[in-house]
Amino acid sequence: MTKKHGKHHHPGDGEKNPAKASQDETSAETSPAMIGGHVPTVPKPAPGIVMVEPGKTVSLAAIDANADGGFEKGEAKELLQAERARIQVLQERLYAEHKRSLLVVFQAIDTGGKDGTIRNVFEGVNPQGCRVWSFKVPSAAELDQDFLWRYHLHTPGRGMIGVFNRSHYEDVLVVRVKDLVPEPVWRERYGLINDFERLLTASGTTVIKFFLHISKDEQKERLEARIAEPDKHWKFDPGDLIERKSWDAYQKAFEDALSRCSTPYAPWLVVPANRKWYRNLVVARTIADTLEAMNPEFPEAKEGIAGLKVED
Ligand code: ADP
Repeated sequence: MTKKHGKHHHPGDGEKNPAKASQDETSAETSPAMIGGHVPTVPKPAPGIVMVEPGKTVSLAAIDANADGGFEKGEAKELLQAERARIQVLQERLYAEHKRSLLVVFQAIDTGGKDGTIRNVFEGVNPQGCRVWSFKVPSAAELDQDFLWRYHLHTPGRGMIGVFNRSHYEDVLVVRVKDLVPEPVWRERYGLINDFERLLTASGTTVIKFFLHISKDEQKERLEARIAEPDKHWKFDPGDLIERKSWDAYQKAFEDALSRCSTPYAPWLVVPANRKWYRNLVVARTIADTLEAMNPEFPEAKEGIAGLKVED
């Protein structure tokens, strides 16, 4: 683990002290923040992904969901294989090191492609070192706890990759759009979520948050495909047609969540996701690049192993 004992800086400390900045050439913008006594590895978005700059407001309408980075489909699929191979090698090292963990969060509108991305990107990863959790409507028992409780139960332990298919963000998305709790309750949650993710970061978890961005036309096509193809009927919920009527309210809720909860330690990453093969490639590349930056290392071997003889 990289341990740099640089200047202590809290992410989100808005104002800079000009006197301090002039004394210190490596100002707060360029020197990574220390959290929990170490400099955490922050996500490394692949080219083509739009990182929501902390403190800025994102406009989803301004981000092209159709972007393909100039790749051809076949080329992107081949490159995806290479990224998967990188993830597999690095995952083994993360597991063996047993010091840090990776949490990958996926959020999207219905049909946005969360399931397909997880299937394609994590194919071939050792299942022992990776857990996927899909969060559904909370149970009565879950609703008796604080809203973060059920998510915290499933955060990855040391050495593990955890994947959240939907996440704690539902509590400021569907909950807001459907008016499931009063506004002052969900408004408070943005700050609580930032604190939660800071706690995870302080404890050695790198948090990568992907928003899969599709256009309204693309959703229409995907819903129509689910209706037209019998093998996709299991994926179709007539309720999705009602949810689609709230498209604008969801976009607004996503924009607020992405803007308020993009932090230097856990920034939101917007993935152009109309083209599935491009989406898979940039998500896989981001995960591989982030794991590489974490640089997990095999633990030191016990002394005297080399040359040992195994008796018959
Ligand atoms: P998915 O659409 O993720 O494939 P489902 O069709 O089972 O899976 O949908 C899960 C549902 O659970 C979604 O409608 C989602 O809005 C809902 N849900 C998830 N988390 C919460 C939450 N915290 N509060 C209310 N509803 C939630």
